[in-house]
Formats: sequence, C-alpha cells, structure tokens
Amino acid sequence: MEGRVILDVSDGSVAMTEHAVVIAGGGPAGMMLAAELALAKVDVAVVERRPDHVLADARAGGIHSRTIEVLDQRGVADRFLADGQVTQAATFGTTVMDMSDFPTRHPYSLAIFQNEIERIMAAWIAELPVRICYGREVTGFAQDDTGVDVRLSDGEPLRARYLVGCDGGRSLIRKAAGIEFPGWDATRSNLIAEVELTEEPPPGVRHDAAGVHGFHRMPDGKTFRVVTTEQQPGPGGEPTLRDLSEALIAVYGIDFGIHNPTWISRFTDMTRQAAAYRVGRVLLAGDAAHVHYPAGGQGLSLGVQDAVNLGWKLARVVDGTCQETLLDTYHAERHPVAARALRYTMAQTALQRHDERTKAVVEVVSEGASMNEPRKRLAGLISCLDIQYYLGEGHPLLGRRMPDLDLITADGPLRVFDLLHDARPLLLDLGQPGDLDITPWADRVQMVDASHQGGWELPVLGVVSAPTAVLIRPDGYVAWVGDGGHHGLPEALATWFGPPTAA
Ligand SMILES: Cc1cc2nc3c(=O)[nH]c(=O)nc-3n(C[C@H](O)[C@H](O)[C@H](O)COP(=O)(O)OP(=O)(O)OC[C@H]3O[C@@H](n4cnc5c(N)ncnc54)[C@H](O)[C@@H]3O)c2cc1C
Repeated sequence: MEGRVILDVSDGSVAMTEHAVVIAGGGPAGMMLAAELALAKVDVAVVERRPDHVLADARAGGIHSRTIEVLDQRGVADRFLADGQVTQAATFGTTVMDMSDFPTRHPYSLAIFQNEIERIMAAWIAELPVRICYGREVTGFAQDDTGVDVRLSDGEPLRARYLVGCDGGRSLIRKAAGIEFPGWDATRSNLIAEVELTEEPPPGVRHDAAGVHGFHRMPDGKTFRVVTTEQQPGPGGEPTLRDLSEALIAVYGIDFGIHNPTWISRFTDMTRQAAAYRVGRVLLAGDAAHVHYPAGGQGLSLGVQDAVNLGWKLARVVDGTCQETLLDTYHAERHPVAARALRYTMAQTALQRHDERTKAVVEVVSEGASMNEPRKRLAGLISCLDIQYYLGEGHPLLGRRMPDLDLITADGPLRVFDLLHDARPLLLDLGQPGDLDITPWADRVQMVDASHQGGWELPVLGVVSAPTAVLIRPDGYVAWVGDGGHHGLPEALATWFGPPTAA
C-alpha cells in the first residue's frame, strides 16, 4: 500500500505524508516488523539513519532455532540457511547443549553474521510493499488521539497512526516517550574490531580475570578480527584505535601494531529492559526494548520474535477489526520472554569470571547442564522453542508454538508452516471435515481440513495428546485447541481476530 500524501489546499504543496505505521530503525527488528506489516497489507514506512542496509561491523553471529522457524513460517528460512552454517550453539557455562534431538525441523542454531542477515532481510522486504527512507533520522515525535507526528532530520513531515521504535539500545523513541529503562549498569566492556597488524598475534583464545581476548585471521589473509575485554568498563561513545591499543597492551604487553581499522565497536554487559513496550500509539521492539551482554547470542533473535508477535496485532488494530487493547497483549507476552533472557545472560556473564571460585561454580553448573533434563530446559530457553504465552488453562499446546507437522490436505501434502506464509490466522481442522463452522470470521481466518499421521511432540515437554483442531495465530502460536467440539472457539476467534461479521 502507498502512503497517503496530503496536499496543502492553499498552494498545492505537499504538507504531510501519512502512513498507517512508521518504524524508526531498519535493523533486524525493524525490517522483520516491516515485512510482517506488509504481508498483513498495512501501509508501512521505515526510517533508517544509515544510507543503506549495509552494516559496517559484524555484530551478531547467528540466530537460534525458533527464529529460524519464524522465518520458515514466512517461507524465507532457506535464504538464511543457504548462507549460514548450522551448529550447536546453545551454551551455558562451558557446556554446549546439543539440541539435535529436539522435535523441530531446525534442531540447531545458524551461524551467520548480522551483516549477512540484514542483507538477506533487506532483499526480502524490497520484494514487499514497504517504503524505506534511508539516510534519515527520526528526531522526535508528538502523539495525539488519532496519530503521531514524526519529525525527520530532513524536515519531511510524516504522520502515522502508530510509531514503533526499533531504533536500538540507545532508542530515541524510548527516551522521547518517557519510558523507563530499569536494569543494571555495565560491569565489563569488550572491544571488537577488524584491523591489520604488523606483528603476528598469539594463536587461540586467552581467558584471564578481566575476560576473554583473541585474534582471528579473516579470509583475506591480512585483516584480523580482534576481541578483547577492557580492564575497566569503557566510556560511552565510539571507541578509538587508541582505546583498542591500550586494551591490548594491558593484556598482551603489546598491541601487535594494529592499524587501518575497518571498524571498531564496544559492547558491554549493561542489562536493561523497558518498563513498558507501549505508551499510547508508540511501541518498542528489539534492542530498543531490551539490552544485554551478547553471551548466548539471543539479542537479534529476541527482536525478530518481538516483531512477529507485534506485526499481526498492529495490523488488526490498524484495519479496525480489533480494539487497541489487543496491543496490550504484546507487552504481556513479550516482556517476560526478554526478562528471562536478561536473567540468563547475567548468569552467563557471572560464570565467565575467571577467579578460582567462579571456575568451581562453572564446573558444578556445567555438570548439571549436561544432564538430560537441565540440558533440555536450558536449550529450550535459549532457542525460544519452549515459549508459552499465558492464554488460559487447557491443553499443553495452548499458547505454545505450533509444530511444523506434515499434513495431508485436499491440495495434497503440505507442512503447517506452508499455510502461514501469508501471515494469516489458520484454523486447522483435524477431525471430521465440516464439523467446525467459522463463516462469521471467514474473511479473516483461513480454514483447512487436514490429517496428520504421527505423534505430537513439543520441545522440552515431550509427547502431548493429539487435538482435533487448532486455531493458530499468524505468529505461529496456538490460540485454541479442539478436543472434539467447538467449545471456546467463537470466543478465541473474537478475542484474537475481532467480532464476527454479521450474516
Ligand atoms: C559484538 C556483538 C555481538 C553480538 N552477538 C549476537 C549474537 O550472536 N546473536 C544475537 O542474537 N545478537 C547478538 N548481538 C546483539 C544484536 O546485534 C542486537 O540484538 C540486534 O542488532 C538488535 O536489532 P535491532 O533491530 O533491535 O537494533 P539495531 O540492530 O541496533 O538496529 C537499530 C537501527 O536503528 C537505526 N537508528 C537508530 N536510531 C535511529 C533514529 N533516530 N532514526 C532512524 N534510524 C535510527 C540504526 O541505524 C540501526 O540500523 C550482538 C551484538 C554485538 C554488539
């Protein structure tokens, strides 16, 4: 959909461009949200400060299983899998928790650098009706009862029904909305860079009381990626070559003649979470809503999944089929998920200290984490395959991710995820064809009669009883489970997808 250009009738000049949703920030969270909104036929614009999608530094090194699944739900996981390396990367302490026995088509993490992830995402949203304004910044906004006036650095007046801050950990949107960001200050900081050296660096990774340090030769043979932990948490702002030199000298006694940096970044274990994910017509997703140390590599995955949770809800509110209260479920569902990830990363950073007592704790914890039940629980948490949104009491599937089962349908064999590519809600009738009637929601909810040969097994939980029907939200989570009748189905349809259309 095109944004609406409003003309000033007095002189015919363009006074304002209006979009249903404006997203500040075109990183992974912003791009995923833009895709979700575009698939839901919402008029969306992204404002991104960078001149294009190219990311100067590498940042995240991969995505975990549930994130691969949500990309699979939209039919684009293969694009990422083709450029990455599948690996077992769910770790706790020093233990890698192999999850190859998890009941998912993707029982692994995918090692792929963030610049590649963003390149693939940018190519995907270029195929969708998304307006992207590169090279511009959101500098402020003012919200009223009907929308948000968004101020841009180039002065273009923009108005949106909703504004979403996907503008990273230092989010201007979060600050301007007055949203508290409680948590914990940094206790450590790392410098990461790509540089050339005049001296050969030592092989391997060094651990000391400060943290981890190491060099990795890049494929061009002359550039090295270097990571080091600073002796004291570094100041805010952009790090310099001198900062890196001093940090290396403190560890190795020399800086190996670092020069010609391609990029230098600093990351810390500052751990904070937005107190509210929505204030009126302004929402937050991704790092704008939560920041933590990258140990465990969950940040990017959390942001992508925030976007998948928010996108369809915002679409239903924007098109008027649902009340604004639907947006409250975004905070209710996603805030606890990030809160537990923050707790996990804080535990991880504590375990990375290298004094003798912490080493003893790591050994004890690692022994525990390698046992079957703790392994499953921790891998379920890190992969996000264990998420259960609280949608009431009932069948274990309620509020959990729908497994990507093989189905037999009138159109032949299909996977469940094939039916979610358009981001539309789905009622899967696995009982007698025709025993469920959703005519009053047929304009919004697709219904498919199907059968599935085989069991139902959920990650961490194990085998569950086979339902006769499931109502699946566009984000792939189960909103209602049938046990032979339609009890509760109209209520679930109305709760998530709006009131019935009159006959
Ligand atoms: C060294 C390092 C390693 C990491 N490793 C991992 C890992 O292995 N796995 C993992 O999942 N995560 C990892 N992370 C975290 C991951 O990089 C972030 O969680 C992720 O980038 C967050 O995505 P986002 O879209 O929310 O925010 P960002 O990626 O920060 O994107 C925000 C975007 O908004 C733009 N922007 C900011 N302000 C404005 C404005 N006012 N107007 C317009 N545009 C604006 C920025 O230019 C940027 O493109 C790592 C991070 C670092 C630093």
